[in-house]
Amino acid sequence: MSDQILKPDLEFTKEIIAAGGESLKKCYQCSTCTVVCDVTPDRKPFPRKEMLYAQWGLKDKLLASPDVWLCHQCSDCTAHCPRGAKPGEVLGAVRKMTIQEFSSPSFMGKMVNDSKFLLLLFAIPTIIFLFELFIQGHLTNGIPRIPNGQLMSYSLMFPPTLYIDTVFVPVAFFAAFMFFKGIKNYWAAMSANYPAPPRKDVITPLAETVREILTHSVFEKCGVSKDRSIAHKILFYSFIGLAITTTLAASYIYVFDYNGPYPQTNIVKWIGNVSGVAMLIGITMIVMNRIKNKEKVGAGSYFDWFFIVVVYGVGLTGMLAQILRLANIPVLGYPMYFAHLVFVFVLFAYAPYSKMAHMVYRTTAMVFAKYSKRS
Ligand code: SF4
Ligand code: SF4
Repeated sequence: MSDQILKPDLEFTKEIIAAGGESLKKCYQCSTCTVVCDVTPDRKPFPRKEMLYAQWGLKDKLLASPDVWLCHQCSDCTAHCPRGAKPGEVLGAVRKMTIQEFSSPSFMGKMVNDSKFLLLLFAIPTIIFLFELFIQGHLTNGIPRIPNGQLMSYSLMFPPTLYIDTVFVPVAFFAAFMFFKGIKNYWAAMSANYPAPPRKDVITPLAETVREILTHSVFEKCGVSKDRSIAHKILFYSFIGLAITTTLAASYIYVFDYNGPYPQTNIVKWIGNVSGVAMLIGITMIVMNRIKNKEKVGAGSYFDWFFIVVVYGVGLTGMLAQILRLANIPVLGYPMYFAHLVFVFVLFAYAPYSKMAHMVYRTTAMVFAKYSKRS
């Protein structure tokens, strides 16, 4: 018989409830959720045991677990739970807390997930870009003159090398470093909590995980919200397309010394526009799916909607800025481009603390699960 004594942490239970798992106390451990889940491993399956851990407030067992990320929030369990305990939502709340637990600095995690700080989060890039306009004299001298016979160009207002070199390169390094720190801490915590015999190499689990992510093979097992797999796939590939666009645009600037504007037939435009439209379609499908299944899976938390609004902001301001440039309406085009830069900053600078971090934490958990022979 085990002599381990479990100490309930009711404060942690309250934190899960506050993070969106308010229904967790309704669970009476019938296990229906575990039976209907198509993605759980046979050994120590989820999510019934996580519901028990959550009721007892067993923080280490939840936050240092790969299982909460092996759940892809298809909500089949929530739809079938006879008590309305919404296990899918509870695991979603725990994932959000995992990001906050392992990300640093910790105050950033709290700010990004608290609506009280929303204005401040947007004020930071707004002030940075206003300062850039100020040092170029655009705040005092007005909109730059467009040379005769030429269409407006955003590089007249914001030389790309200025905002890329002074803002987005540091933002990219900041986000990458914070992701690295968070993932390192998370991996160490999982290793301490699941001391299973590891495989010899991490490359094979990583390759298997990448293949699963590219094909969305786990998502496709969803029952209740099957459309979510298609929507998620579109959004995922749109981000890859936008990453390719950014890389190509940076090559034009730094290798070929060309700052645009690009003709509509240019490859950068093609990939950027297709990816931008795909991003808006994907996020709209996700929202529609949420609304359609609201009764069964819940409406989502501030954490979910912050990400959705920012993705919409990036896509819509990007598309409108381009249309206004082609229509040669600088008085609307420049503010729209300004707003686009602010949204892009918010998406990437706060990525280690927002729902964007799902991509990185879930990948890590999937690799760890294969590495430690959990799945
Ligand atoms: S969450 Fe619902 S389905 Fe799962 S064990 Fe609890 S009561 Fe049963
Ligand atoms: S939300 Fe879906 S994947 Fe997650 S535990 Fe429930 S049934 Fe399994």
